Amino acid sequence: MYGQPSSPARRSGCLGILLGNPRIMGALVLLVMGYFTYMSSTREEVNPFTGEKVRVKLTPDQEVAMGLQSAPQMMKEFGGEYREPILANKINEIGARLLRAKDQIVARRGSKDFNYPFAFHVLDDRKTINAFALPGGQVFITRALLEQLPSEDAVAGVLGHEVGHVLAWHSNKQMAKSGLLQSIAGAAAAATASERSNGSAIGQMVGQLLQTRYGREDESQSDRIGVQLLIVAGYKPEALLDVMKVLGQSMGGARPPEILSTHPFPETRAKQIDVYIDHFSKDPFGTWTQGWN
Ligand SMILES: [Zn+2]
Repeated sequence: MYGQPSSPARRSGCLGILLGNPRIMGALVLLVMGYFTYMSSTREEVNPFTGEKVRVKLTPDQEVAMGLQSAPQMMKEFGGEYREPILANKINEIGARLLRAKDQIVARRGSKDFNYPFAFHVLDDRKTINAFALPGGQVFITRALLEQLPSEDAVAGVLGHEVGHVLAWHSNKQMAKSGLLQSIAGAAAAATASERSNGSAIGQMVGQLLQTRYGREDESQSDRIGVQLLIVAGYKPEALLDVMKVLGQSMGGARPPEILSTHPFPETRAKQIDVYIDHFSKDPFGTWTQGWN
């Protein structure tokens, strides 16, 4: 009972009772199984763009497959794809310019490139200010956000931030992090149910992806990558400060847009962005070594 003093002999007796309890033993076995599943289903890799050693879950091919599989559902949530050719061409042109900058940076570092099939989509939602990216290179921006942005440079700023999430493997890293808990749940399910098909396992991962929220560090890193891509591509990096103003004005909605979620307020980010602009203006092809924020 709680609050009752107990002798060492009594405590070891308790341990004996715990270990003798089949449910607790079962849970311990699942924990160990979950840990080993986690270790074997994730791996450590050096990211070619950031140079960081990170733990990821998916291979690049799996990332691309998952992005393509999730894209139709994501597009449906925001009014479907807006297929106006002049605007689509412009967005593709800005995206291509950012990707050429990415290629130049990766080439200077002597890293192996990603080979993600990037695609930039405009979504026909004129109410929701939003932009987001799926692993493997599917990038989206809503008409509502586009209509608020004052310049091509600012559009490039938003797309550059989203490309940053893809390049730095943010979804993939989140999946590896949550993989331990997921594996334990999976082990528990496996112990009680018959073997799952591969298809449903991918379905579960897609579900998880749709709920992914990046952390503050990931958002800061994407801002940094955005700034660097803008500078190397010849866009004005200060345009990202205009983006922060637009986002600041859009705050207060029920569901904050991806580019605004789980990170510092736009004013705080604007101050950080000033520091990134200063850093990468002096060394456009360099890496960031000053910590996360
Ligand atoms: Zn973001």
